[in-house]
Amino acid sequence: MRIGILELLIILFLVSVTMIGCSGAVSSNKIMPNDKSLSNECTSGIEPAPISLQNLYINSMPEKYSYDNLLADIKTLQKGNADKLKCVKLCDTADGRGVYDIILGNPNGNKQILIFGAMHAREYITTQIVMRQLCDAIDVLNGVDKTSSYRGISKKYLLENVTIHFIPMNNPDGVSISQFGLSGIRNTDLRKKVSAMYSGDYAQWKANAVGVDLNRNFDADWQDFCGSRYPAPERYKGAYPGSEPETAALIELTERYHIQRAISYHTCGALIYWYYKQQGEVLAESQRFAQRISAETGYPLDNDYTAVDAAGYKDWAVYKMGVPALTIETGGENERSIINPVPISRFYDMWERNKNVVYATAYDLL
Ligand SMILES: [Zn+2]
Repeated sequence: MRIGILELLIILFLVSVTMIGCSGAVSSNKIMPNDKSLSNECTSGIEPAPISLQNLYINSMPEKYSYDNLLADIKTLQKGNADKLKCVKLCDTADGRGVYDIILGNPNGNKQILIFGAMHAREYITTQIVMRQLCDAIDVLNGVDKTSSYRGISKKYLLENVTIHFIPMNNPDGVSISQFGLSGIRNTDLRKKVSAMYSGDYAQWKANAVGVDLNRNFDADWQDFCGSRYPAPERYKGAYPGSEPETAALIELTERYHIQRAISYHTCGALIYWYYKQQGEVLAESQRFAQRISAETGYPLDNDYTAVDAAGYKDWAVYKMGVPALTIETGGENERSIINPVPISRFYDMWERNKNVVYATAYDLL
């Protein structure tokens, strides 16, 4: 059969289009942890691919695990696990960052757990703890270690019995200030306000970018808390409970999903706060839960709410919502000294103590 010039040109054109299409597909599958093209929105990666935890920033243990690192890792995790994860942006912060809720399991499940980190800016190492817990849980669900169990019960079974909300970085603006100083704030006007508010060591920043201490912004004797009267790097409680997008998001999520167990990660001091005026059944459940996590981590329990500040998330959850909730102060395990930000060299000790907290919490809901 003879092929004319026109037919030959058509064939060459089709071949070249096919080749371009293939190379495009290959390039879109390549997931690099330093991919800066990620938008602030969660992506909905749908390509099934085995998860490669080696590609995550969390595994490279950066001293400053940043908001951009977090976004890149969320994107990577989603690529191979879209059937297990749902990522929801809860709110926008003053400096235009997102607070992300990564939901593991059925969002409509009837046993819901909340675990969050980095509410206090300089305590950003807790983001890595929460992310490592998430990665570990994904590995379990993916059958990486089929024999893994907790107290004789398959970890996979424990996870499948619950829904877990992981919020690795509740205060991304504050974390950026603690990690990068004024240059961590992108909005010019906001940067000026932060500069006017404080001129000390920005590594010690705890608040969000408008100077509200998020863990003093909840409706649990909020009116009685006396800290700073003005926006500040720490201990300013805000204009009213839940005034900040970061705290309003936690309040809304706790109410909407009927959260049944909550853990708020902080540093440091190697201690668990669990009590704030709760009574009756909530008191009994809270105490049992706290003792279980204390036994798991080796952190002792604090038993005197009068000695701690009011208006924290845990205080509101146990006192106003009836939800057994803990503040886990990790870090400082051996030296009992307070060093913030906790150096990354402490991470493995922290991880060893906290690696089964997810399973212990799920076990508590059996
Ligand atoms: Zn804290």
